[in-house]
Amino acid sequence: MSLTDLSRSDLEAALEQAHADYEAFAGRGLALDITRGKPSAEQLDLAADLLTNVTADDCLSPSGVDVRNYGGLDGLIELREIFGQLLRVPAPQLLAQGNSSLTLMHQALSFACLFGTSAGTTPWAQQPRRILCPVPGYDRHFDLAEALGFELVSVAMDDEGPVLEQVEELVATDPTIKGMWLVPMYSNPTGITISAERARRLVAMKTAAEDFKLLWDNAYALHHLRQPHAEVLDILSLAAEAGNPDRVWIFASTSKVTHAGAGVAFFGASDAEISWFTGHLAAASIGPDKVNQLRHLRFFGDADGVVDHMVKHAEILRPKFEAVTRILGQRLGDDDIATWTDPNGGYFVTVSVMPGTADRVVKLAAEAGVKLTPAGSTHPYKLDPDNAVIRVAPSMPTLEDVETAVEGFAACVRLAACEKLLAED
Ligand code: PMP
Repeated sequence: MSLTDLSRSDLEAALEQAHADYEAFAGRGLALDITRGKPSAEQLDLAADLLTNVTADDCLSPSGVDVRNYGGLDGLIELREIFGQLLRVPAPQLLAQGNSSLTLMHQALSFACLFGTSAGTTPWAQQPRRILCPVPGYDRHFDLAEALGFELVSVAMDDEGPVLEQVEELVATDPTIKGMWLVPMYSNPTGITISAERARRLVAMKTAAEDFKLLWDNAYALHHLRQPHAEVLDILSLAAEAGNPDRVWIFASTSKVTHAGAGVAFFGASDAEISWFTGHLAAASIGPDKVNQLRHLRFFGDADGVVDHMVKHAEILRPKFEAVTRILGQRLGDDDIATWTDPNGGYFVTVSVMPGTADRVVKLAAEAGVKLTPAGSTHPYKLDPDNAVIRVAPSMPTLEDVETAVEGFAACVRLAACEKLLAED
């Protein structure tokens, strides 16, 4: 029976039980962390060969580049060809750069702020600037844009991606809206993959700002948990067909493919945007770390090598995701106090708890030894108006620890809901 339908005396009994369950859990003295989407050590071990496959007597790329030396601002062509196939970007329009796609996002937005875009428009820093943020979304996107002086504007998401009626109206009328974040596949944190129809409309819609950019952060393009899986959209062709070839900036990296924070990041866009980006980048760098790029090239061999490697990740991750949804179902399935996603890829499960209780759940969990991402992190300015969304990241702990952490988490969700219902009664 749903908790919300209980009489006051039954609810008081439910609270007592929830308290006892919580105390029993807290008494175990655990220290578990399901806050951030980091790969586990077992996943990192899959790419162990990266640490040995370039040696002092063997550091030429297939086309003869000595990767120990300066130069090659665009990155190693052979690696760009592999990831170009996977991300559906022609290799000449895909740059292989340093260790972080977030840094590339920061650079692209910074260049637009300082110098204006490839269309020769006024630098964004000289104007009021706003950016659309589909919510729930990725906290680092929000922090990055805020740090560069953008006002963050929330737009809702549904099962196919951002709600377009809202987006289209905002961008059509407000020239200060310069861009929009989007994680098109297995989004952080809801796991949603945008439909082709929505993507088509995003690249075709009329925007009051002539230099509007769609920040297409395909961080999880290859991170399927199940088959058959979602396919990468050829967003650059869709944008070109819609007459807006320069609208899209594509970002991706191997952070959750090889070694997190020690992988290779990619930037893809139209020819004009790539020239614009490298034109400004050339003042900042003589070239990326090609040694690391060669390691990656040797490790993967070709695009199939990347795909095969991702299957191994899925085999490690899938049981953890299944454990989360199984335990939430067992512990909360009949209570009507929470819903959760069951993603087909990516790194997160989003749990929507009883409105008004997310911060209480996070606090209770912390006190019981389970660290969760702070409530509100999934929203601009860390303000979730419903105080309901919690992001769960099950990738890093062992399967056993994930199971324990989610058991404890469910106890916290129940306790906070009982407290709230009784306080309102
Ligand atoms: N984008 C998204 C959507 C992410 O979830 C993450 C990692 N959590 C990143 C970017 C960061 O990528 P990188 O390590 O390449 O900076």
